[in-house]
Amino acid sequence: MPETPVMPETAVAFIGLGTMGRPMAERLLAAGYRLTVHDRLPEAVKDLVAAGAAPAASAREAATGAEVAITMLPNGPHVREALTGPDGALAALRPGSVLIDMSTIDPPTAQELARTASDQGVRMLDAPVSGSSAGAADGTLTVMVGGDAGTLAEVRPLLDELGGRIVHCGGNGAGVSVKLANQIIAGTSMVAVAESYALARRLGVDPRLLFDVVSASSGDCWSLRTRPPVPGVLPSSPAEHDFRPGFKGALMCKDLDLALATAAAHAVDLPVTLRARELYARMSEEGLGERDFSAVFTLLATED
Ligand code: NAD
Repeated sequence: MPETPVMPETAVAFIGLGTMGRPMAERLLAAGYRLTVHDRLPEAVKDLVAAGAAPAASAREAATGAEVAITMLPNGPHVREALTGPDGALAALRPGSVLIDMSTIDPPTAQELARTASDQGVRMLDAPVSGSSAGAADGTLTVMVGGDAGTLAEVRPLLDELGGRIVHCGGNGAGVSVKLANQIIAGTSMVAVAESYALARRLGVDPRLLFDVVSASSGDCWSLRTRPPVPGVLPSSPAEHDFRPGFKGALMCKDLDLALATAAAHAVDLPVTLRARELYARMSEEGLGERDFSAVFTLLATED
């Protein structure tokens, strides 16, 4: 069980091999970690198994013999099921092992699962990430960690394979708290960029010129710089590829839901986040939930 910093060769269970989990798992495998992988979709594990990972039919099987287990799943209920469900990982993890949930979930669930893990002698960190699938592939994610600082020190070499910036944010739940605060800014600023492009289009402003001017002005922000929502402006923007994700609108809606529920529990009013959340919910209603969240522009844009 890891008490000194983990090294390549450590047995790692990786559960959840979607847009983010797959490239993250590939990096760990390439760095020499011994990976056992599980996803509820059998086809999601194929590439990793071809690259040398061992497949597991359940989270429990993946965690059997693992010193570190990582989950990268959509939301709290998925993490709860993968950890404490009938075939959950916690039943197999040995005392002293470390469980790292890298999904974006709500702080109360992160704290409750950390307590459940602790009752079994398993140390849990919440470690959500910021950065796209490209950041996952090249190991430049920002990782926001909640939990014991000593446990983080042990698994830091592994997290360093995944992230360019690993930040200890506080106790259990602090990582996801910081991540939700980040999502408020990312989600609302994308709507602002979309509104700006919708008006500029109506006024006949050249979209490239708008990008060049605003990215050097006070309106500059990450949403603009990575996702101008019309084609012909930035080759890497999802708008160039019919809004293929990227980061799905449905996941942004989920993150703003988590932020709003957390704010309500603490009597904090988030009126702009509430309005942005309605727009991301409409994306799913109109069949756009699997597109990049910058496709929110298509709800606002009026054709010329
Ligand atoms: P995704 O939907 O692409 O992948 C999730 C994977 O989990 C899927 O392969 C699914 O089959 C699997 N899964 C779901 N429930 C399961 C279960 N009970 N057991 C086993 N496998 C299960 O999602 P993603 O984009 O990889 O995002 C994962 C997390 O990371 C989310 O919380 C998201 O908010 C966060 N995130 C995503 C991005 C991004 O750019 N996509 C960036 C930062 C953070």
